[in-house]
Amino acid sequence: MSLAEDQIPDEVREVCARLRERGHRAWIVGGCVRDLLLGREVNDWDICTSAKPKETKAAFRKVIPTGIQHGTVTVLWKGVPYEVTTLRGEGAYSDGRRPDEVFFVDDIADDLARRDFTVNAIAYEPTSGTLVDPFGGAEDLAARRIRAVGVPAERFAEDGLRILRGARFVGTLEFTLEDETEAAFAGALDTFEKVSHERIREEWLKAMKAPRPSPAFEVMRRTGILDRSCPLLPPLADWPVGDRNAWEVCLRALDDLQGPPEERLAALLHGVGRPRATDETYPGASADLLEKWLTDYRFSKDERRTITHLVRHQRVDPSVDERGVRRFLQRAEKARAPAVLRVRRAIVRAEGGDENALAGFQEEVEKALALNVPTTVGDLAVKGHDVQAALGRGGRAIGEILRTLLDEVLDNPSLNERETLLARIAALAPEHQ
Ligand code: ATP
Ligand code: MG
Repeated sequence: MSLAEDQIPDEVREVCARLRERGHRAWIVGGCVRDLLLGREVNDWDICTSAKPKETKAAFRKVIPTGIQHGTVTVLWKGVPYEVTTLRGEGAYSDGRRPDEVFFVDDIADDLARRDFTVNAIAYEPTSGTLVDPFGGAEDLAARRIRAVGVPAERFAEDGLRILRGARFVGTLEFTLEDETEAAFAGALDTFEKVSHERIREEWLKAMKAPRPSPAFEVMRRTGILDRSCPLLPPLADWPVGDRNAWEVCLRALDDLQGPPEERLAALLHGVGRPRATDETYPGASADLLEKWLTDYRFSKDERRTITHLVRHQRVDPSVDERGVRRFLQRAEKARAPAVLRVRRAIVRAEGGDENALAGFQEEVEKALALNVPTTVGDLAVKGHDVQAALGRGGRAIGEILRTLLDEVLDNPSLNERETLLARIAALAPEHQ
C-alpha cells in the first residue's frame, strides 16, 4: 500500500521538520495517514511528537496552549492551526469514558497502542519517509476492514464510544467489521450507555457525510447500539411496508438523499413511532417523539427545528389542485417546502411508491414558489395597522381579520390587492366591533 506522499502539504512537512531540527521526532498520525493511504481527501492533519509540550511551544513563534494537560499544543504555522500532541500513553479507564491519567511516552508504538482501530493507528514521519504500523493497519486497509487495536473487549471497555466509531467507519470508509471486533460490541453496550450524548451526536453527524450512511446504521441496529441510544428505530424492522419493512425504507431514503445532514436525518428518523401511530397521528406523533430524542442527544435548536419540520410535513397529497398546493406551502413554509419534498421523494422511492405523481406536485410547488404566491399573513397586501385603522382599535380582532383575509387569498391569490383587501376589511370590521 503506498502513501500519497505528494498530498502532504508543505506546511505540515515544515512543522515536522522544525521539530526534527530541534532534535525531536514528529509524525503525522491517525485519520490523516489512514486517508492518505486510501487516497482519500484529508480533512485534518494531526501531528504527534516526542517533544514535550514546553519544547513544542519553544519551537514555534505562535502557539495556542489548547490542551496542555493532555499534551496538545496548537501551532499556528503560516496562519493555519495544527494540533501537535506529545506522544502519550493512557492510564486505566475506570469510568468507560476517559483515562484516569495520561502520561508521556517516548516510543511512537506506545502512542499508537492506545488508539481505537488498526487503520487509525498508523504514523508517518515525513522527514525520514518512514511508516510506523505496528498493528497491521495497512493490511486491514487493503482488506477494507475495521479491527480493534489489541483485545477488542478490553479496548471497548475503556471507552464505550469506540463501538459507535467502529460502526460509523463502516459507513464513512465503506469497510466491514472484522468478526472478533464486531463480536465484542455486545459486551461493550453497558459501557457505551455511559458515553455522553454530545459525543454520540457528533458521530451521527459524521456518519451523515458517508456516500451511503446506511451500513453504519445497519451495524448499529444489528449490534444493539441503537437499542441503547435510539430505541425508537429498531422496532421499525418489524413493521411491513409493502414488500419491505419500515427500517429498510428509512435506510434507502437516507442513502438516496445527498443533501444536508438534516434532510438525511429526517429521512432516517421519519418513521419513529410509526408502529404505534395511527393514520391520524402520523407523522405529527413521530415529529413529537423526535423532538424529545433530538433534545436529549443535544442536537442544536436549528437542527431540531429543521429535522422535526421536515418530518412533520411528510403528509403530502400529490393529487391536490393549485389551492391544495398553496395550502401545502402554508403548512410546510415556502423556504422549507423544497426540502420537505426532497425528503418526501426519497421516502416514496424507498417505499416503491408512485414517484411520478409526486414529481408533478413538485413542479406545481416550484411554479407557485416562482410566483411567490401569498401564504402567510406577512405576504398580504395589507398590514395590521390597516385593520386597526378600520376598526378604530387594536386587540385580538386584528389577527382574526388578517387570518380570514389570508384564508380567502389562499383560495384566490388574485384577491391580494391592497384596494380589494381594504374593502374586505371594511366589510368584516362590523362583525368584530
Ligand atoms: P475522521 O476522518 O472522521 O476525523 P479520525 O480517525 O481522524 O476520523 P478523530 O476523531 O479525528 O477521528 O481522531 C483522530 C485519531 O485519534 C483517530 O484516528 C484515532 O487514532 C484516535 N482516536 C480518536 N478517538 C478515539 C477514541 N475514542 N479511542 C481511541 N482512539 C481514538
Ligand atoms: Mg480526524
